[in-house]
Amino acid sequence: MKVLVTGGAGFIGSHLVEGLLARGHDVHIIDSLTTSVRTNLAHHESNPRLRVTIDSVLNEPLMDAAVSEADLVYHLAAAVGVKWVLEHPLKSLQTNLRGTDLVLTAADKHRKPVRVASTSEVYGKNDSGPLREDDDRIMGSSQLSRWFYAIAKSADEALAAAYWQERNLPTIAVRFFNTIGPRQTGRYGMVVPRFIGQALRNEPITVYGDGQQTRCFTYVGDVVKSVIALTETDAAWGDVYNVGRNSEISITALAQRVIELTNSTSEIVYIPYSEAYSGGFEDMRRRVPDVSKLRATIGYAPDTTLDDALRQIIAVYPTSTAPVS
Ligand code: UDP
Repeated sequence: MKVLVTGGAGFIGSHLVEGLLARGHDVHIIDSLTTSVRTNLAHHESNPRLRVTIDSVLNEPLMDAAVSEADLVYHLAAAVGVKWVLEHPLKSLQTNLRGTDLVLTAADKHRKPVRVASTSEVYGKNDSGPLREDDDRIMGSSQLSRWFYAIAKSADEALAAAYWQERNLPTIAVRFFNTIGPRQTGRYGMVVPRFIGQALRNEPITVYGDGQQTRCFTYVGDVVKSVIALTETDAAWGDVYNVGRNSEISITALAQRVIELTNSTSEIVYIPYSEAYSGGFEDMRRRVPDVSKLRATIGYAPDTTLDDALRQIIAVYPTSTAPVS
């Protein structure tokens, strides 16, 4: 198949591209390199089945042509990372709303199936326990830039659902839960590469808030396997899926695991949210996926342990070039 991957040079995108090439597909990437780097594709640059276009998904004629040539579209291009999104609220909204709109418009015109990347952020402040796909979402004020990412991704999901319901366009939305792995950068906020970089440099590990907030970290290899399997399962289309591992850990405990696995002399320091992020930031206390729908559909759910994932990231972490902020 000819597969179009928007955001294919990004962290999750580049792993997905690897998986698609390994399955024998021709892959066309469109990526603006705003928060990604071309070196993410280094191992595959010479592969004749890979084509890379450096441009924005907001380029409408380009997207129309690229979608028309593809058999399937993975739409991953998005403004990502809490830090980046807070610093660029307008650009984030434009990319995440208009970008998805353009991709789905072209997909509808050319009748091409689309898999849209979403996020566990759409659950907002709902921290009631393992979150099912049809659970309520609890958003803060629409005036707070902290919620713009979740608002845009929720709208993307709604758009994908509406195209399926009204236009019979095959769409799938997948909600990623704190995906981690090699090539993820800490520059835009993500906690695991930040902690690993700090630990390898024996610098203080910066835990925000009281460190008792929890997350479920999911290995990127599992994520890629799951999304490819979903796309290859007919019954999966027209729906939304949590893609994550349902084992939670507090951020303080994560810092301790990283210190131990890197044999670091780093100490943990606690930074108030008001210092870590701009004013009015509300963090999620807890975010656990219910993955029963994913498992029922593809017979599998992410299961690589956190320690195994951390070991793989540490083993290839670029110690010389790892800015934390
Ligand atoms: N976090 C932290 N120190 C950092 C970066 C992040 O304690 O240097 C915390 C952050 O406040 C959140 C958790 O780690 O509670 C996960 O943050 P990340 O930005 O990776 O993902 P998200 O907030 O989207 O789950």
